Amino acid sequence: MEKLVAATRNVNKIREIEEILGGHFEVISMDEAGVTGEAEETGTSFEENAVLKAAYVMEQSGLPAIADDSGLEVDALGGEPGIYSARYSGGHGDDEANNQLLLKKLEGVPKPRTARYVAAIALVRPGKPVICCRGCCEGEILTEYHGTGGFGYDPLFLCETGVTFAQIDAETKNAISHRRRGIDAVLRELKKEQAAQAEKGKRT
Ligand code: IMP
Repeated sequence: MEKLVAATRNVNKIREIEEILGGHFEVISMDEAGVTGEAEETGTSFEENAVLKAAYVMEQSGLPAIADDSGLEVDALGGEPGIYSARYSGGHGDDEANNQLLLKKLEGVPKPRTARYVAAIALVRPGKPVICCRGCCEGEILTEYHGTGGFGYDPLFLCETGVTFAQIDAETKNAISHRRRGIDAVLRELKKEQAAQAEKGKRT
C-alpha cells in the first residue's frame, strides 16, 4: 500500500485521517517520515494554508502528504474568525478565550446566528497534480455552552443533529464532520483520476 504522511502534529486529526484513509494508504506521522518543523500558515484562505502544510511535508519527506486547514465562519461576523480560528483571541489554541470573544462579538445578534465549520483538505504528491477539496458542516452559534466533549468552538456550535459538537461522541462527529466531508471529496477526486488513467491505459 502506498505511504501517505499526515501533515499535522494534532493527534486527533492523525487518528481521523487514519480512520478514513487507512484502507487506501498506509498513513504515517510526520515523525515517522523524518519531517522536522512545520510550514508557516501564511496563506489567505483555508485552501492556500492546507496546500502550504502538505507541500512542506512532501518536500521534506519525498512522500505524498495530506493536510487540513480548518476553522469556523460566522455569517453575522462577515465570516470571522475564518482562517484565524485557532488564534482569534490572540494566543494560539486558547479555546476558552476564543469562545468568550466569539460570544462577546455576537452579543445582541438575534438567533439563529448561522455559521459553518470549514475544512480544506490538500493532497500533495511528487510529480502529480495537487488535489484540494473543501468540506463544510452547517450550524449555528448558541448563547451558552452545551456539552463537554470535542474541542475549540464545539460547545457553542449547534450542528445538524440538533445538539452541539460537544454533546456527541467522537465517532458520530467524525462521520459528519467538515474534515470527513473534505477527505471524502479528495477520495472521490482520486477515484476519478484513477478511472481516467485506466481509460487512457485501455486506449494505448
Ligand atoms: P488549524 O489546526 O490551523 O486548522 O486550526 C483549526 C482551528 O479551527 C481550531 O483551533 C479550532 O479553533 C477551529 N476548529 C476547526 N475544526 C474544529 C472542530 O471540529 N471543532 C472545534 N473547533 C474547530
